Amino acid sequence: VLELRGLRKAFGEHEVLRGIDLTLRRHEVICVIGASGSGKSTLLKTVNLLEGIDDGEILLQGTDIADPRIAVDGVRARIGVVFQQFNLFPHMTVLDNVTLASRQVHGVGRAQAEATARRLLERIGLAEFADAYPDRLSGGQQQRVAIVRAIASDPELLLLDEVTSALDPQLVGEVLDLVTELKRQGTTILMTTHEMHFARNVADRIVFLHRGEVVEQGVPAEVLDAPQHPALIEFLSRVH
Ligand code: ATP
Ligand code: MG
Repeated sequence: VLELRGLRKAFGEHEVLRGIDLTLRRHEVICVIGASGSGKSTLLKTVNLLEGIDDGEILLQGTDIADPRIAVDGVRARIGVVFQQFNLFPHMTVLDNVTLASRQVHGVGRAQAEATARRLLERIGLAEFADAYPDRLSGGQQQRVAIVRAIASDPELLLLDEVTSALDPQLVGEVLDLVTELKRQGTTILMTTHEMHFARNVADRIVFLHRGEVVEQGVPAEVLDAPQHPALIEFLSRVH
């Protein structure tokens, strides 16, 4: 689904991504881990074209979306994104939040978009909040709505950046359970997380980013139990 080749990004003199190569296959879940400032969020933002790149290719189903001639809106419509916080529009009801993209970007009619949204809300146990505003929901409920909104228009790829790190500890589980459920249904996911336990259980592959480079990657057991790179060994000793 997604292939990154030699991705480079600098902010001024500071090289934040230094030649990233990464392949994400259909139905695969990759967890990107790494210290604060290693470039995880920047990596996800480049894939969603929120940050331009200086060099390299971003192939989405074989098309280089980093090509300046590509229509950005068209690409974003194919990718669902959820960030750490402030994902929902506070002035819109939960239902309107979930249907917004399908209706405005994908041209789905209101009735159909709402039916889909209600079904998704039902599935995560939040149907009763359809007409409420986001501030009535807990942080965990808001993030689940944000995730459901991101998948409502059936994207080819879902990007999740630290979707649980702004939450109270007791709310983290319900959000990660939803991500686990999406994986079971075959959603292709590129995510960053500090939840090593989750990464171990759900990721097909873990990618360790160190100062803008992928210095180690593999299945969770390899990366987490038999780390090779000194920076990964040090990182794991701090997060465990
Ligand atoms: P965290 O775990 O704290 O979320 P991260 O791995 O997501 O960290 P990034 O947010 O990608 O790290 O940031 C990588 C580096 O790029 C940091 O040094 C950051 O200060 C810098 N950076 C990120 N965005 C910008 C920007 N818009 N302008 C300048 N520097 C930036
Ligand atoms: Mg980040």
